[in-house]
Amino acid sequence: MSVADGFRNPHNLPVKTCLQCHRPFCWRRKWARSWDEVKYCSKGCKHRAQKTPANICAAGSVEDEF
Ligand SMILES: [Zn+2]
Repeated sequence: MSVADGFRNPHNLPVKTCLQCHRPFCWRRKWARSWDEVKYCSKGCKHRAQKTPANICAAGSVEDEF
């Protein structure tokens, strides 16, 4: 899996890619119970995603913009 290419993950925590900003983010303790449902790296991204639900067309291209 190269989703987290160049992403530092020293503790080998589970990693997901944010559906909004497409950046990888690590498991956090606060998500211990809801990790399966977590889709965004932050409240800000979740908020933005709800404001613009039509950005799904970007799915499929998971290129890094760095
Ligand atoms: Zn994000």
